[in-house]
Amino acid sequence: VRRVEILRADLIGTPARDFRRFMEGAGVDRVGRRGKNLVLRMRGPRDGTPFALVINLGMSGRLLMREAGDRSRSPSHPGVRFRLEGGGQLVYHDIRRFGRLGVMDPEALGRWSRSLGPEPLARAFTAPGLADALARSSAPIRSWLLDQRKVAGVGNIYANEALFVARVHPATPARTLPPERSRALHGALRSVLREAIRARGTTLRDYRTAHGLEGGYAPKLRVYGREGGACARCRTPVRRVAFGGRSAYFCPSCQGEGTT
Ligand SMILES: [Zn+2]
Repeated sequence: VRRVEILRADLIGTPARDFRRFMEGAGVDRVGRRGKNLVLRMRGPRDGTPFALVINLGMSGRLLMREAGDRSRSPSHPGVRFRLEGGGQLVYHDIRRFGRLGVMDPEALGRWSRSLGPEPLARAFTAPGLADALARSSAPIRSWLLDQRKVAGVGNIYANEALFVARVHPATPARTLPPERSRALHGALRSVLREAIRARGTTLRDYRTAHGLEGGYAPKLRVYGREGGACARCRTPVRRVAFGGRSAYFCPSCQGEGTT
């Protein structure tokens, strides 16, 4: 990274001067993910001090790579521009600006990572572990799944889809889930996330893949956004309820009435 241009200061979670001081002259070691966040492991310019650039794309954030000499139209809503060695650019683009970029030293990165729940596709995320964690909460299961401190990386679309697959009503208090439903939910979370990753995500509106294409999972959604549509299992119309500020979609016949 040669130079950083911060065009929208509200996107930066770190004071702009610190952000630039960390980033300018630094190189990317590797790119990973924790929950819904991209984690770029960086190496500082002078002494090679390791740090991380953590990016949450929010609702409509995108990272666009522009090679040197790219003459295509420049992106409409650039928020942060990283000018790279060799003339290329990495542009953080965000129309709605709910995204955040921040730098963390290894210690802060560790603290932050430990504050998040397990990765649902990791080996450490087990059915008995999920059952234990659910037993400690009376939150509606859909809200529990969205809480990044409980399990990291599940959003509203995949929470609703997994609950449908597991035949659990979204408003069911977490601790009242019978063991066989909690086991079913564990499997459903993993299978729904794997399917969605294979399809390269769900595009309802803003989301695009790293190559600028729409994800392929939207046509496969079973309940999310399908209010009034027929349940694929029993043909009962899919219902929508709102709680915790978010819509929940479910089949009242396959998933029961819960407590709403
Ligand atoms: Zn049904």
